[in-house]
Amino acid sequence: MHHRRRLIYAALAGVVVAVLAASVLAASWQPAYSGLGGRLSGPRVPAPEQGSVRYEIRPGDNIADIMLRFGVPAAAVLQAARPDYDLARIRSGRELTIGYQHGQPHAVSLTYPIDEDSQLVVRWDADGGWVSSVDRVQYDERVVTRHFTIESSLWNASIDAGLRPIDIVRLAEIFQWDIDFNTELRKGDGFSLVADGLYLEGELRKLGDIHAVKLVVGGGDLVAIRHAGSDGGESFYDPDGKARRKPFLRSPLAFSRVSSGFNPSGRLHPVTGKKRPHYGTDFAAPTGTPIRAVGDGVVSFAATSGGYGKLVRIEHATGHQSGYAHMSAILVRKGQRVKQGQTIGKVGSTGLSTGPHCHYELKHGGRHIDPMKAKLPVSVPLSASDRAAFAHERDAWLPVLERASQAPE
Ligand SMILES: [Zn+2]
Repeated sequence: MHHRRRLIYAALAGVVVAVLAASVLAASWQPAYSGLGGRLSGPRVPAPEQGSVRYEIRPGDNIADIMLRFGVPAAAVLQAARPDYDLARIRSGRELTIGYQHGQPHAVSLTYPIDEDSQLVVRWDADGGWVSSVDRVQYDERVVTRHFTIESSLWNASIDAGLRPIDIVRLAEIFQWDIDFNTELRKGDGFSLVADGLYLEGELRKLGDIHAVKLVVGGGDLVAIRHAGSDGGESFYDPDGKARRKPFLRSPLAFSRVSSGFNPSGRLHPVTGKKRPHYGTDFAAPTGTPIRAVGDGVVSFAATSGGYGKLVRIEHATGHQSGYAHMSAILVRKGQRVKQGQTIGKVGSTGLSTGPHCHYELKHGGRHIDPMKAKLPVSVPLSASDRAAFAHERDAWLPVLERASQAPE
């Protein structure tokens, strides 16, 4: 049998974990602006009588200098903006828009993008002087499709397809009950997707709702179609209306790599050197990486336990028990009820351990099972009241998804 080449996720794991920190994602947002630009040295730009100019902020730029150059009364505008946003905090790479009006001796508006969804607008009002507000960015929305095949890594393939790291995390989340994204994807696997594209000035800036996704993995297809339930939350379903969400996540770490698999017949223990069965799966990840509860349940153990180091065990209503060892920090108490995906601790190297990893084990009826291979309970189907609406969405999006998956890349 052809042995499929494994992807080089090991090298990527660190990058991926860093990318996963949502706060980092938010903070690192940079619009793909292609600005008018221009250096701040040189003479003042003659302001147009009407219309607007755009200026891409350069490293080292000073807001007051920019305003002077473009005929914006700096002191008054900075003061008007201050309750909403401190313009001294402008970031290079973003773009200011400065508006002019016939008959006015100075600029009449200044716009700065604060983040993806909001912008600061300071406007000249002939009656009241400068007035500041934070406005929602108005995107143009149109359906986009993407199709890509993994050549070297999921990240490269999706970035080549014009997606951002946050979009890839969203795709991974849709299939997190089915696939461990770092160990189960291979070269040749791929995605097709249909989503709302949010455009600004003709450029795709981000994805809105994802309507339908197909993941081709190991020659098989997993399809997910979005449906917003009557409770307002969105979920993804297979074409038969079975939720992609299942009682158990595939793995306790969102992105990581398996460093040692389930092996009940024995392996040489890396610390003791003795041959002992390995009743779990080890996921290598940097110290501090969040560990997630794989399913809803009640914490039955949360303390230090010999070679396990800092250990958490959770009892699940399905008769399963999950265990998470070698933590650097435990974030739950015995008796506490936890939700699937909730962070219960952090990766560490406590107990008998050679380096930071999470030893994850799963028992059913008191017996150890292989968490990566075990047949786990399946999801409940859509309620009767949601089925008709779902069928309508499925019949609308599946043909679009099918066309997308046959399009050249
Ligand atoms: Zn282990």
